Amino acid sequence: MRDLQRRVAAFRDARDWRRFHAPKDLAISIALEAAELLEHFQWKDAAAVAAHLHRRRSREALAAEMADVLLLLLSLADVLGVDLKGAALRKLRVNARRYPVARARGTALKYRALRRAGRTGGTR
Ligand SMILES: [Mg+2]
Repeated sequence: MRDLQRRVAAFRDARDWRRFHAPKDLAISIALEAAELLEHFQWKDAAAVAAHLHRRRSREALAAEMADVLLLLLSLADVLGVDLKGAALRKLRVNARRYPVARARGTALKYRALRRAGRTGGTR
């Protein structure tokens, strides 16, 4: 992760783009790239999505949009001095507490609903 973040920063700095990378603009860019990711699914039913994802060129284009999001996220982490790997690991630990396997396995309930269901004994 750190190596990738360093390479992203080197790419940026070689082009003298750091001055354009205000946190606000990076956050906006992340949302815009995420929207480009969503375009792969927009107006498609499950069968059309499956067909789309079956095509190699579509999968490559989707992967490129995912990479755009990741690269901008790494740029934002760099500018803000955020240890993204550490933050992700902390969040994973939080989610492990919120979604204990015994209660969360096989259900898409949000953690608050999961807690309520645990108290009442319901599953859905
Ligand atoms: Mg893009």
